[in-house]
Formats: sequence, structure tokens, C-alpha cells
Amino acid sequence: MSGSSPYSPSTSGNASKVLDALRGTLDGARHSALYADRLRDVEVPDLDAFRKLPLTTRADLQNAGLSGTRAVPIEQICHYGETSGTTDGQSNSTWLTAEDLAGNARTIAARHPEIFAPGKILLNRFPFMAAPAHLIQLIAQQGGGVSIPAGNINWDVPFPRALELAERTGANVLAGFPLEPVILAQLARARGLDPAKDIALDTFFLGGAALPPVLQRRIERIWNGRVIELYGSTETMLLGTACADRTLHLEPDVVYCEFLQLHSDEPAAEGEAARLIVTTLGLEGSPLVRLETGDIVRKLPPCSCGDARTGIIVLGRDGDAVSLAGQTLYPYEIIEAAAAAADALDSSVFFNVVMPDHLLVRIEAEDEAAAHLPAAYEALRSHLGDLPVEVEITPTNTLLDVEHLGRSPSVYKPILVSDWTKPGRQLISVSQGMMEWPSLGLGEALRWLSRGVRGAIRRRRLQRELRVADKEGR
Ligand SMILES: [Zn+2]
Repeated sequence: MSGSSPYSPSTSGNASKVLDALRGTLDGARHSALYADRLRDVEVPDLDAFRKLPLTTRADLQNAGLSGTRAVPIEQICHYGETSGTTDGQSNSTWLTAEDLAGNARTIAARHPEIFAPGKILLNRFPFMAAPAHLIQLIAQQGGGVSIPAGNINWDVPFPRALELAERTGANVLAGFPLEPVILAQLARARGLDPAKDIALDTFFLGGAALPPVLQRRIERIWNGRVIELYGSTETMLLGTACADRTLHLEPDVVYCEFLQLHSDEPAAEGEAARLIVTTLGLEGSPLVRLETGDIVRKLPPCSCGDARTGIIVLGRDGDAVSLAGQTLYPYEIIEAAAAAADALDSSVFFNVVMPDHLLVRIEAEDEAAAHLPAAYEALRSHLGDLPVEVEITPTNTLLDVEHLGRSPSVYKPILVSDWTKPGRQLISVSQGMMEWPSLGLGEALRWLSRGVRGAIRRRRLQRELRVADKEGR
């Protein structure tokens, strides 16, 4: 049949498949309080009609309340999630069925057989409240390997313990935020280890923050491994993963995506910064129709890997764009430029401060790195053009204090009896029994104090600069 019709049967067949999936989402969504009225008499004869449906905004989600998006009885739900509160302190709720989670897990595992396979040890560092943490567990249960549930940002598995777990188990895959391999590498080096040689981790499945190629390549060099990017959100769940050519491809089986211009609801052109609008496909618990995700993305030309799925760059959240010297910069662009500058100084640790008249890029590096400052400025220029920038080299542990991170408390199962007649810990309270901070040595205390003082002085100087710039601006 294929190729015989001038009307491109594969495309129109695909369009009708998409339309069927979208109608399925509308049918499901009608059962939620959020969409019951909005979608009551809606019909979508074609994709154009669908694209005229009203957008679902974050305000809509918040007004709908805790259970507003839930489209199935609570008895069918197995998972509740919510976004971490943004600046307005509000968070969005999402309800998932077991199949919602299992489906996402299957899609990811099928897409990446090189990461997930029987016998692979997966160090799962995604925080427990974030959905990817549970997807990694499910992928393992579905035959994708052995998961170590070592969620970060908790006292149970502080960074030193995560590193020790990686060493002890010979873990192959690290799943977590992009900063995780950077922190673990710093910590490993502080302990005299070479991450590339002494720790088996060789695959990094990372998401939740900007991960430009320059940072991916640096992580790959430090660890002698490979980085694969994951993209999703609490409301929509899985949105896409990267291919071998580092392009983030959207998953058309689980989401239908539209790209709209920043200041109108017209479709955006390829390469233009665009609002990402997502309709979930097959999501039972909290189906969403034309959700304004709040993410600003850039649609890429067809990928060299040959995969026809749309590729994007996620530039950042819509409110996070920075205006500097008449230019709009997205977090991704700042992080990409700064990572390149840091790389020129052989560093992965940097922090950006946006001042009224320039971008201050603080980079933690060795003293001899100063010789490479021109290369760092050149890297910034190649990414940001003539934008006024300042590079500040700071000593080790000023931007990312591994000594501090290494000083995490030990956490124990709560106990109510302490036997002082036996060797071991002598406790006199419940809280002592739950958690114990290591004692602080004099040398460590002095180093802390001096770093604290230097940080405070730097802060005060920048505040003064800000006041002067404000006055001159008026
Ligand atoms: Zn690709």
C-alpha cells in the first residue's frame, strides 16, 4: 500500500492516529473537575480544531485545587505528586495510576536498552518526591537492572554515602540531577580518588536542570562515561530523552507538543524561542489538555541521528529569562556559556550572578588556572557575543564546599532504649538516637570560618556595586 497514493498515506494515517489519541485524552479529561465544563460539548473533527481549544494555564491548575485534575476515582490512584513550590509558594498536584507510572517506565527502558538491562546496577539519586525516582525503581522491577534507592537531598543518603555506595556496589548507572556527578567527582577527588579510574560509574542518566553539551562532555571526560539527558515535568510526566547525538527528542507516544510564539498564540518557527504546550497521551490519573508548561524551548532542525521525533533545547522557565545590555538570556544560555568558561579553566564548578551592567561568572579553580583566563573570556564571547562579562576565579570549596557536604550527619532508625553497659553509642535522648553530627575539628572549624568571612565580604562588595549601579541608572 505504501507509496502508491499521492496523498502521503503515512502522514495522514499518522495524523488520524494522533487525533484518536487526543480524543482519548479529551474523553478521560472530561471526568476531572478541571475539564468537566470546559470540554463538555467540545468536538475535534481535525487537528486544527484541537489546536483552537483553550490553553490550560498554571493558574487554572491552581484554581482547580488539590483534586481538580484527577480524572479517575481515588481507588484507582497509586501515586500523588506535586511541583516544588515556585516563587508564589503554590504547587500543582498530580495523580497517577499504576499504569501511568509503568507506561512511562516501559517507554524509557525500551528507548535506552544500553542503560537499562538485567544486571545493571542503578544508583538512583533522584529525590523521593520526584517522579523519576519511582520510574527508575519500576524500570528495575521490569527487568532493567538493580536499583539502589539512594535519593539525594535527604540525610539518609548524604553525598559521601552515595559515593561509598557507588564504590562498594560497582554501580554502572547514576540517575539524578545534572549537578550530582559534578558533586560526587569533587568529593571523590577530595578523597584522593580519580572518578574515571577508581569508580565504575560510566553512564549518567540526568534531568531536572539545564545540561548543555559542554557540561555533558565535561562530565563524560571526568568520569570516562556517557551522559543521557532526561526531560519531563511533574504535571506531564515523561516528555523526552536524548539520543546518541545529544538531541533531546520528545516522546510522541506519551505527549502531543505544540510550540507557540512568546507573545502570541501563533505557532513558532523552528529555532525561535517558543512556549511549550503539552497534551498528555494515555495518562489516566491527571490528563492535561494543551497545558502551558511554562518551559521556553527551541525546536531544532531534523537530528543527524535519523530519528524523526522532534528535537528541542529547553531554555528555561518563562519567568527566569534575564535582561542584560538589551539582550534576553535564558538560564540554559547562561549556564552553557559559564560551563564553557569553567571548562577552559579545567573546572566544573561555577556560579553566575546577574548584575545590572554585567554578568559575573564565578569559577572555582586552582591558582594556576589564572593563566587560562583569556581562554575563559574567549569561551564566554563565543557564546554571549559582546555582552559585558567578568570572570572571577575563586579558591576550592568556596562555591561548592565538599568539606561541608562531606560532613553530613549519620542517620539511625529511631530507638527508645540505650544500653550504656555495652560498648557502643551512649545516648540520653530520642533525637540523639535518630541523628548524629560528626564532631568538628579545630582546623576544619577555622577553614569554615575563613570561607564564611570571605563569602560575606564578597557579598557586601557586590551589594555596594548594585547600589552604585542603581543610583547611576536613575
Ligand atoms: Zn537524535
